[in-house]
Amino acid sequence: MKKTHRPYCKDIAVWTLILLVIFSSLGWIHKKGLRESVDTAARVIAGEGMLKLVQDTLDPPLVALTFDDGPSKKYTAELLDGLKKRNVKASFFLLGKSLEGNEALVKRMHREGHLIGNHTFHHVQLDRIPEKQAKEEILRTNNRIYEITGEYPVFMRPPYGAWNKEMELQVEMIPVFWNIDTLDWKTQNVDSIIRIVRENVKNGSILLMHDEYAATVEAALKIVDELTEEGCRFVTVDRLILP
Ligand SMILES: [Zn+2]
Repeated sequence: MKKTHRPYCKDIAVWTLILLVIFSSLGWIHKKGLRESVDTAARVIAGEGMLKLVQDTLDPPLVALTFDDGPSKKYTAELLDGLKKRNVKASFFLLGKSLEGNEALVKRMHREGHLIGNHTFHHVQLDRIPEKQAKEEILRTNNRIYEITGEYPVFMRPPYGAWNKEMELQVEMIPVFWNIDTLDWKTQNVDSIIRIVRENVKNGSILLMHDEYAATVEAALKIVDELTEEGCRFVTVDRLILP
């Protein structure tokens, strides 16, 4: 008979339960705390490799999907459908100039629990324009988002990652950068996007993508499916940058 494939996290959950039962009967849990007891059990019985797997089950690696340059009339709804189906929350950094006509999409993002951030009004490089204009780019976008969702954005993704600390104090926004650039805008290739993510992903990864391409939507949902199967959990980006 063919052996059926089971994701390792399910096996680990069963193992964890067995180990918990053994050690709780010894009174370890009461004495040493749940987490330490499980760690010790794993180390004693199955070695360091097992310990790593148990840790992954208790503290799954957290990953944030972030999408810039939207909302897009063409692709954002499909992405939201896929995320909803998978019960995954993402972070969207919106352009002020793209909000008009897309209010329903933005309301939906907000209603479905995604984080909505600011990506300036006209996609400007903030350190290349006069300070007054830079501030205006940010505040105008915040106001438009507030008019639609009833909530002011707290986070912003500066276009090209260009940011200066003084601006941060003036507009009271928290900048959000990234640690994996999928280059989706450049390749628009599903396999390439997935490969870049898979080669670099770890706990705390913030993936940079753009909900403006069919390839991005397809790749993002495949990434969610594959990494969830392997035990990762997807969170909004605030979870990874706030203490
Ligand atoms: Zn951008």
